[in-house]
Amino acid sequence: MSTPPSSAIVVGAGIIGCSIALELSRRGWDVTVVDKGSTPGCGSTSASSAMVRFNYDNLQEVVLAWESHSRWVDWSKHLGVDDPAGLATYVRTGLLVLDGELLDRSLELGHMDTLDIPYEALTADQIRERYPALDPARIGPACRVEDEHFWDEPTGEVGGFVQHESGFVNDATLAAHNLAFAAEQSGASFRWRAQVTDVLVDDDRVTGVRLADGSELSADVVVNAAGPWSVALNTMAGVLDDFSTSTRATEQEVISVPAPQGFRLEDGGTGVHDPDFGTYFRPHPGGTIIVGSFEAPCDPLILVDDADDVRQSPSAENWEVQSLRLARRLPDLQVPGQKSGIVSAYDITDDWIPIYDKTSLGGFYVAIGTSGHQFKAAPFVGVAMAELIGAVQSGRDHDTDPLVVRGEYTGVDLELGFFSRHRHVQLHRQLTEHL
Ligand SMILES: Cc1cc2nc3c(=O)[nH]c(=O)nc-3n(C[C@H](O)[C@H](O)[C@H](O)COP(=O)(O)OP(=O)(O)OC[C@H]3O[C@@H](n4cnc5c(N)ncnc54)[C@H](O)[C@@H]3O)c2cc1C
Repeated sequence: MSTPPSSAIVVGAGIIGCSIALELSRRGWDVTVVDKGSTPGCGSTSASSAMVRFNYDNLQEVVLAWESHSRWVDWSKHLGVDDPAGLATYVRTGLLVLDGELLDRSLELGHMDTLDIPYEALTADQIRERYPALDPARIGPACRVEDEHFWDEPTGEVGGFVQHESGFVNDATLAAHNLAFAAEQSGASFRWRAQVTDVLVDDDRVTGVRLADGSELSADVVVNAAGPWSVALNTMAGVLDDFSTSTRATEQEVISVPAPQGFRLEDGGTGVHDPDFGTYFRPHPGGTIIVGSFEAPCDPLILVDDADDVRQSPSAENWEVQSLRLARRLPDLQVPGQKSGIVSAYDITDDWIPIYDKTSLGGFYVAIGTSGHQFKAAPFVGVAMAELIGAVQSGRDHDTDPLVVRGEYTGVDLELGFFSRHRHVQLHRQLTEHL
């Protein structure tokens, strides 16, 4: 085994890149983070609903979420420093997951059982009793408002389960700032308004990056944490040939409406996953609810070539379908005439599972394809990527001998090989139809 090299460039100061930068600098790396924006977390991260949940259809993402959750809950300890800008806060709301055809309940609960993550199964009657503002009618499968079945009478009722430890991080951008500040305190430096336009290579190894102003930065390691712009960086590095999945940027909208009584943060409102009618929602400070899509097959998947080209505000169609779906679930909801919400992009893979891996180019690593659900995982992703980079740079062949990283807070083992760029990809239903 050789001595690990010591300089790294992280491209992207979103929640993922800042977390990787922190963990690399903690391990003694000389880290430079470059971002084309002017502050931490100004990409996908700034638009994140920042929900933290533990139900996934694969164990490894549950491991990431569970270990990271412990770090969100004790954020100050995780950071180890006090950011003068203030600290992001974990808001524990619980998450009610309704039954519905877009979710395999027994598979997901099986993974939670494996890690001893607490949950409580609820019948429709218990849901009605505990959340009087929510109607547990079976109204799915999800369809568009113009579909003749949108207003059909319910065909029964749905039960579900509640994860009491779930919640959300109150300020996603501040969370990225906190990680960036902690990374700086550990010695990392940040270059703002610095767009990477080329990846420099010598003899099958990365040697650095070129910036838009023509200057070059050298390092032993370059990490692609460029979020929905990640494919452009991979193309510059010429590493895509042995990837079994693509990454593509998708346009995403989350709308905001006034919360009815019982669903405000102040009166104990819970987060809800509604795979029966195709939405997720959670209470938000200021008496509102934010609502996003569950990626139902009827909802169009909008792929964009450049993540900078997304719409400026929610579309009329999306506003209508999300708000009316929510109104069927929360009958007291008053849908305002004025549209409110955000539009952003995140990058998806063909199976909606991220890629955390090395690449065929020596020293070039990827933490990409976060597929709309890896904000919550960022604290442990940083640890796992730093461990991976250290191991591979020291001579480990992660492709044939995949690394396992133990979570320090929960003792769970993360099998990083699951996130390999070489994995066997089972195409997600949406992408099969749309790509
Ligand atoms: C609407 C929405 C809702 C979401 N809800 C949730 C949720 O509830 N729970 C959850 O866990 N996750 C959620 N997510 C997903 C989560 O927010 C993302 O997975 C996460 O923020 C991705 O972080 P990132 O650091 O990889 O990317 P980003 O935050 O996009 O950061 C990438 C950075 O790279 C920079 N960059 C890109 N290219 C270059 C270049 N060439 N040179 C220099 N800099 C470059 C960009 O400026 C950007 O700052 C949501 C995402 C969206 C959009």
